[in-house]
Amino acid sequence: MTVVVTGSASGIGAATSNALRAAGSEVVGVDLRDADIIADLSSSEGAQSAVDAVLDRCGGVLDGVVLCAGLGPHVPDPRLIIAVNYHGTVALLDGLFPALQKGANPAAVVVSSVASTHVTWDENPIAAGGEDAALAAAGEYGGALAYAWSKNAVTVNVRKRAAEWAGAGVRLNTVAPGSIDTPLLQGGLDDPRFGEAIRNFTAPIPRRGTPDEIASLILYLLGPQAGFVHGAQFMIDGGVDALTRPTKF
Ligand code: NAD
Repeated sequence: MTVVVTGSASGIGAATSNALRAAGSEVVGVDLRDADIIADLSSSEGAQSAVDAVLDRCGGVLDGVVLCAGLGPHVPDPRLIIAVNYHGTVALLDGLFPALQKGANPAAVVVSSVASTHVTWDENPIAAGGEDAALAAAGEYGGALAYAWSKNAVTVNVRKRAAEWAGAGVRLNTVAPGSIDTPLLQGGLDDPRFGEAIRNFTAPIPRRGTPDEIASLILYLLGPQAGFVHGAQFMIDGGVDALTRPTKF
């Protein structure tokens, strides 16, 4: 099984790459550094160069795609957060779709976030392409908004592809982690705007998740046991979603 993993150099992407290799898969990692394919997914040119390099390397045939590359709310430029988390992710998804259609039992998993539920698509400025104007009004918490909008948009865009992708024989799902111990979360903890709130919030399971726990769910979703699982979002958050939105699912 040949699987592309973006964000493979760190955190959830690295754990997923390791787990896939341990299970016998060939992994093609894509990242800004320490990867088989070095690419910057924050621009359409960078995303296209990643797609071209992946297709070249795998001969136009892929069995799995896992899109983990992303930036956290603490990153100073909120436009960059939307560029990587939303535009770059969707560009890879669509660019690699033809190769997945030629794969064996093909499936893709996109790493979204519990933050995807913090806004609705109706109030998400990305829906109408109005994110720049909305960010101009957002002030110092623009990063948190950009993060929630980008994750909401990525989950919506996965769900909107459910009919077309199933028709082509390719399964597609999202995972939505809560707080997971990675450099991205550490960036939030170190940021005076967000650190205290992250530290003070306790999930029903009172600890942070590990990248290996997310990797386990991703491997399940890629595999044959998940053959009827499609267009779904899986919360993996120690119970945060159930705690904060018990009536919404
Ligand atoms: P991480 O920082 O450990 O890894 C992210 C990887 O993405 C890094 O290797 C980084 O180099 C890469 N990346 C960033 N910008 C890129 C670009 N322009 N082009 C190519 N690669 C780029 O973070 P992580 O926590 O493992 O995050 C993985 C995914 O999980 C992200 O999409 C993140 O939003 C999501 N997530 C994380 C948490 C958490 O608490 N850690 C919670 C919910 C969702």
